[in-house]
Amino acid sequence: MLGLRCSSCGEWHESTIRYQCEACGNSLMAEYDYNRIFRKFSFENAGMASGIWRFKPLLPVGPNVAPVTLGEGSTPLLRANRLESALSLANVFLKNETVNPTLSFKDRALSVALTVAGQLGAEAVVTASTGNTGVSAAAYAAKSGLPCTLFVPKSTPRAKLYAMKRYGASLHQVDGTFSDAYLLAKEVAERKRWFNLTSTFLNPFAVEGHKTLAYELVEQMKEVPDWVIIPIGAGPLLVSVYRGFLELRLAGRINTIPRLVGVQAAGCAPIARAFAQDKTEVEPWEAPETMLSAIADPLSSYPADGSRTLKVIRESGGQVVAAPDEAVLGDQEWLTRQEGLYVENASASTLTALKILLKQRVVRESDSVVLVLTGHGTKETE
Ligand SMILES: [Zn+2]
Repeated sequence: MLGLRCSSCGEWHESTIRYQCEACGNSLMAEYDYNRIFRKFSFENAGMASGIWRFKPLLPVGPNVAPVTLGEGSTPLLRANRLESALSLANVFLKNETVNPTLSFKDRALSVALTVAGQLGAEAVVTASTGNTGVSAAAYAAKSGLPCTLFVPKSTPRAKLYAMKRYGASLHQVDGTFSDAYLLAKEVAERKRWFNLTSTFLNPFAVEGHKTLAYELVEQMKEVPDWVIIPIGAGPLLVSVYRGFLELRLAGRINTIPRLVGVQAAGCAPIARAFAQDKTEVEPWEAPETMLSAIADPLSSYPADGSRTLKVIRESGGQVVAAPDEAVLGDQEWLTRQEGLYVENASASTLTALKILLKQRVVRESDSVVLVLTGHGTKETE
C-alpha cells in the first residue's frame, strides 16, 4: 500500500492514523501500486489456504506484518434452490457471512483493522457500533491484546451487548442513535489518541477487508453475477465490494462489474430517498423508526458517506431499495424455515429487495443474483 488518497478531492496523505482529508475533510481510501502488485500476485493463484489473508498484497498492511486473524472469510456460497422454485428464478445464490468467527461480515474489516492497529503502534482501540462491529472489534481486540472501548445505541440487541462484554470490551450504551454513538467514539479517539475502528468510512484501513468478499464471489461462481444485493447503513461494505470487482477487472480476471443493490430499512432510508429523488447529495434521515437495527443509520453527522455510496451504486448501474420492516420480518422467517439460514433481520432485507425489484421488472427471472447475508439471527433474540 502506498498511502491514503481523499475519496473526494484526491489529496494524498501518508499512511498513518488519520480519518479524514486535511484539505476538504472527506473520507480517505487506501491507495495501492497495482502494477507492482499484479506483477507478482494473481487471483487465480491466491493460494490454497483459506480466509481473507490469501489476498494480503491487496490489503493495507506491510508484507512482514503478522495478521490478527480468527479465521474470517472463505464463507460458503449456497445455491438458493428453494427460493429459486418459490420465485421462478434461475440463478440465486446466498453468500453466507453468518459463519464468520463472530457471526457477521464485519470480521473481514476488523481483522484488517486490528492488524493495522498493531502495525501503526496504537495503544488502544475504540469504535461506535450498531452491534456487529462492536462484537467483532471486541473479539479481535482480545486476540491482539489491545484494550477496546465501545459506544453503542441503547437499542442494540441484548445478545450483542452480552457478547461484547464477554470478550472483555469496555461498553458504553448511548441514549440516542448510531450517529450519536459515532460522535462520542470520535471525540474519545481524538482526545486519547486511540485507534478508531468505526466501520463507516471513517477508518480507511478497516473498510478494505470487505473487498475480499468480491474476490471470493468470482472464485466461487467462476463468473460475474448480474446483481449483488447488500444491506446498507452508510454503505462501506457495498463500496468496498465494488472496489474489489474493479480490482478484479484491473487484474484481467473479469470483464464486467455486477450491478450493486443497496437495501435500507424503509423507516431509515436516507440513501434510498436521495436515489428515488435523483439527487447526488444524501441528506440525514430525521427520525429513524425501524426494527432493522444493523442498518438503522440516519447518517446525521456524516451524510457525505451516504453520497459516496450512492455514487458507487449509480456507477455500477444499480439500485437502492427501501424495505418495509413487516416484509423483511416475513422474509427472515422464510429464509430460516425454507433455506435453513437463521439470519438477522437486516440480512433478510436482501430477499425483500429482490422481490421488489422483480415486481418492478428491474431484475429478470433469468438474471444471476447474489444475496449477501451479513449477520446471524442468534444475536438479536428479542
Ligand atoms: Zn479531500
